[in-house]
Amino acid sequence: MEAEASREGRLEIIATHVRRCLRCDLSDRRLHAVPGEGSATARLMMVGESPGASEDAVGRPFVGRSGGVLDRVLNLSSLRREDVFITSIVKCRSADRAGAKLRNRAPLKWEIGACRPYLTRQVEIIRPRIILCLGGSAARGVIDPGFRLTEQRGKFFPGPFSSELMATFHPAYAGRWKGSVAQGRNLEELLLQDIKMARDRLV
Ligand code: SF4
Repeated sequence: MEAEASREGRLEIIATHVRRCLRCDLSDRRLHAVPGEGSATARLMMVGESPGASEDAVGRPFVGRSGGVLDRVLNLSSLRREDVFITSIVKCRSADRAGAKLRNRAPLKWEIGACRPYLTRQVEIIRPRIILCLGGSAARGVIDPGFRLTEQRGKFFPGPFSSELMATFHPAYAGRWKGSVAQGRNLEELLLQDIKMARDRLV
């Protein structure tokens, strides 16, 4: 219990650093940094690309439309949000100014590099059994810069601290292209299939 409290405490220290971080340009367009949330002893860690507008508005991961999709597939996999840890490869909204608005874009290599120590530290503290990357950009940032989601989705790779790495579709993408069929199933079904596969690997 004491060890768990200390893990939570160490995660909170990282979150405090993230909220004040000015290491890259993404700090100047965020409303809230999104360090991540969930169990400090999670066996399954989910890593997205970057917070979107909804997440930036409240400082929590996957709360917008993509959060709805993620909650649905977690539910169908008998997993609870509080049992997993959800974060992203960059902790601030990755976007460019377009007039008065912001337009989302993929995080740049140097932004991912600047933010990397936070994710590394979170993994080091939590020591998850599986790190599941949500989307190609997260997979390229965590597993391999040449990662190809269409070919390597659903496969396991060796990760840090005896973990295994795996990638699946980003929930926003799966939700947007719900009607698209690959391997005879729609993308949300494939996302669900991958999450169940990761879950089954935990036992
Ligand atoms: S994206 Fe990461 S490195 Fe860049 S300002 Fe935010 S927390 Fe810092």
